[in-house]
Amino acid sequence: MKIAVFPGSFDPLTKGHEEIINRALPLFDKVIIAIGTHAYKSGLFSIEERISFIENCFKDHPIEVRHYIGLTGDFCNQVGAQFIIRGLRNSLDFEYEKDIAHTNKILFNIDTLFLIADQATSHISSSIVRDIYKHGGDISKLVPQSVISK
Ligand code: ADP
Repeated sequence: MKIAVFPGSFDPLTKGHEEIINRALPLFDKVIIAIGTHAYKSGLFSIEERISFIENCFKDHPIEVRHYIGLTGDFCNQVGAQFIIRGLRNSLDFEYEKDIAHTNKILFNIDTLFLIADQATSHISSSIVRDIYKHGGDISKLVPQSVISK
């Protein structure tokens, strides 16, 4: 069974994440959306809220949403995933991701599959969404309906 983990903060899920997940779904038997937590970032939305945004958005699809602590490679081994999915928006994303991808290959023998962001959503980031949300702005063009109907 081909299993992929799509790791991220998802604080909150955006239309950019949604687009990457939709394109990854036909490539694997199972896609696990894995919410990791940064040691230095506490986040705006709780883990429970982030999980429910994703589950409600993909309720008709074969995805699983999990929260994990520690190394993404260790988590992949625990769930039997052979692949990591990451989205690339720009060259900054690429520079950051390539060393992590090489490291995950060497340490865990896990391949990272990169999907280039769609032009229509490549400008979206969770951090910009959080800024707009905190200041009472309208995030409806940037996030799936499941986030707005919170
Ligand atoms: P992280 O803190 O791990 O970067 P994010 O939730 O910000 O977590 O992002 C998770 C993944 O989704 C990353 O691979 C990121 O590059 C990708 N991603 C984020 N926003 C977009 C977007 N607008 N289009 C495509 N991929 C995206």
